[in-house]
Amino acid sequence: MKPYDFPDATGHFGQFGGVFVAETLMQAIDELRLSYDRYRNDPEFLAEFHYELKHFVGRPTPVYHARRWSDELGGAQIWFKREDLNHTGAHKINNSLGQALLARRMGKKRIIAETGAGQHGVATATVCARYGMECVVYMGSEDIKRQSPNVFRMKLLGATVVPVESGTKTLKDALNEAMRDWVTNVDSTYYIIGTVAGPHPYPMMVRNFQSVIGTEAVAQMPEFAGRQPDYVLACVGGGSNAMGIFHPYIPLTDTRLVGIEAAGEGVSTGHHAASLTAGRVGVLHGNRTYVLQNADGQVSETHSVSAGLDYPGVGPEHAWLKDSGRASYVTVTDDEALHAFHHCCRIEGIIPALESSHALAYAGKLAPTLARDKIILINLSGRGDKDINTVADRAGIVL
Ligand SMILES: *Cc1c(COP(=O)(O)O)cnc(C)c1O
Repeated sequence: MKPYDFPDATGHFGQFGGVFVAETLMQAIDELRLSYDRYRNDPEFLAEFHYELKHFVGRPTPVYHARRWSDELGGAQIWFKREDLNHTGAHKINNSLGQALLARRMGKKRIIAETGAGQHGVATATVCARYGMECVVYMGSEDIKRQSPNVFRMKLLGATVVPVESGTKTLKDALNEAMRDWVTNVDSTYYIIGTVAGPHPYPMMVRNFQSVIGTEAVAQMPEFAGRQPDYVLACVGGGSNAMGIFHPYIPLTDTRLVGIEAAGEGVSTGHHAASLTAGRVGVLHGNRTYVLQNADGQVSETHSVSAGLDYPGVGPEHAWLKDSGRASYVTVTDDEALHAFHHCCRIEGIIPALESSHALAYAGKLAPTLARDKIILINLSGRGDKDINTVADRAGIVL
């Protein structure tokens, strides 16, 4: 395999990625790209990033052997990369922190963000409080209903949460609204995108900040598990937790990379969010990638029990990894994810995020087909405390 150095200078991963934005945003994108180029390898910037990851976020996160579950399945040994143990409960803060440090160096005092599950909003509100920056978070009104504890958390942290009533009132609409704000307030405002989507340099920059996950895992697995895993699994919404753990593993070709998309009520029902599995190549939110769309190119409504996976696009690097064959992508339904959620609670004493539960469900199918000396590493992208209302609803329980 040739050395992997995507994206190219124009932000392309093969045919995917690039910059598809209105002329009015080009100046802001250029400023961001030049600033990130200036700081990405700056020793002082990286030292501050890693100091904050250690002392504010709580990294490194452990790798954990899910021994009872592995024994029960009777196949491969399952390990978790414990991103659920991060401050604010998910991997999102790795990226919010990195971008906030960049925004400060760019002299931007106002931060905007979009959020689906609310985890990116909470992570961004958290770093804004930490650095004394104004924070405005756009969130679909449907997601606000599903994720009320996270909405209150953002407000406690001093953020303004703006409900978005357009479209399906979910993540993609919040993204559009945030883009509109950015166009209007380019001079004062930095836009922290929460996943590996958007126009270049976002997919590359967010991946680089999240790659701390995989870099730690590559160092930890030989020490604690005796060797590198045979499989690395991660759920894929926009794709940032997956890119974060996949990227350092790309050159290690003995390790298979598998992304798990949300099949919702089943891919054949049309009620799902499996962009790589069922989408077609198109342009969404500033980049070319796989998009769920109808025959006329209209972006489809998506469905997943987990708000964080409920997005009709996917980061362009995943589109490239799929087409190049370096990673493969599978789907898991709502019901399978919920079953894995409950099982993980009881057999390992860990309440996982519903997003991460999709990766758990696939591991539950894969492990019994493999020998006991094989190793599966799952990126446990977040904790499930935010999801208890959804889970209770589905079980018909009133909290
Ligand atoms: C946001 C979120 C996801 C999905 O986003 P990616 O960019 O695909 O990682 C997955 N898990 C958790 C816990 C999240 O908060």
